[in-house]
Amino acid sequence: MSASAPPLLGAIEAGGTKCVLALGTSPHDLRDTTRLPTTSPAETLPAIIAWFQDAQRRHGPLAALGVGTFGPAGVHPSRPDFGSITTTPKPGWAHCDFLTPLRKAFPIPLGFDTDVNAAALGEYTWGAGQGCDSLVYLTVGTGIGGGALLHGRPLHGLLHPEIGHLRIPVPPDGFPGVCPWHGNCLEGLASGPALAARWGQPAESLPPDHPAWEAEAAHLAAAALNLRLTLSPHRLILGGGVLQNDHLLPKVRQHLAALLNGYLVHPLLDPSLASWLVPPGLGTHSGIAGALALAAQALADRPAPPP
Ligand code: ADP
Ligand code: ZN
Repeated sequence: MSASAPPLLGAIEAGGTKCVLALGTSPHDLRDTTRLPTTSPAETLPAIIAWFQDAQRRHGPLAALGVGTFGPAGVHPSRPDFGSITTTPKPGWAHCDFLTPLRKAFPIPLGFDTDVNAAALGEYTWGAGQGCDSLVYLTVGTGIGGGALLHGRPLHGLLHPEIGHLRIPVPPDGFPGVCPWHGNCLEGLASGPALAARWGQPAESLPPDHPAWEAEAAHLAAAALNLRLTLSPHRLILGGGVLQNDHLLPKVRQHLAALLNGYLVHPLLDPSLASWLVPPGLGTHSGIAGALALAAQALADRPAPPP
């Protein structure tokens, strides 16, 4: 590797059903990628390590590794649970230390954050969030998850944001929602399974003129309003399977404009919301790109060597 070559980074997007692994210098230069089922930590973590060890033999040594994971997860480097998945209901994974086995196998800078904080960072670095150093990324799929950046860094707070469980207005039909903890929170009302339970058919089979979509747009606009009023992000990126419907995003903008009702007028705010509420620039690759970006950030943050 020449001195000026960009560093080779490893990326892990750990999901509840599968892990996506990649190695490259950016999402536009992936040298290798694979998918592994997420079974048990005893099986999955060694399989991840073995794949990267083998990939290093083929492509050269990694400079840093980034992990974007399902959660909840320990994301504060100064705390004992850093690098762990914490209170997940996924069998076998509660309080699983994800990072220590990786650290033992790869003594290089390691980044670790939630999948959605990673996706926000990926979109900021290479996608629809470029130039927006405060940003929210919301994915609407099997669940709803949100990540945020402030000043170009993932936002943590005491733990990390849990935007999927925001409380929003209860729909007039009294649908109780599907969240096992809160019933009709945002995820309980607006995730793919919520759409299926409420309207009696899979979300992907609901036609564009179905009343489900106005209701869905109203729920997502309520969440978008609250995010805009609390965090004032430069941009909100809305992704995930449910947003594969191209007609949904314009409806969310219409509902959000109505909720805002002319409030927040500023030369930097586009009244049409077309440049504020946007789809992901990286399509379905925000998460894995985000894990690469976490690796790059860990590399940039590493302590300087002693003089
Ligand atoms: P996951 O959240 O599991 O990572 P996705 O983001 O693809 O994966 O979300 C899957 C959910 O999105 C499912 O509930 C599915 O019904 C819903 N979904 C997928 N495609 C569409 C579509 N075109 N229209 C509406 N809902 C969809
Ligand atoms: Zn909830």
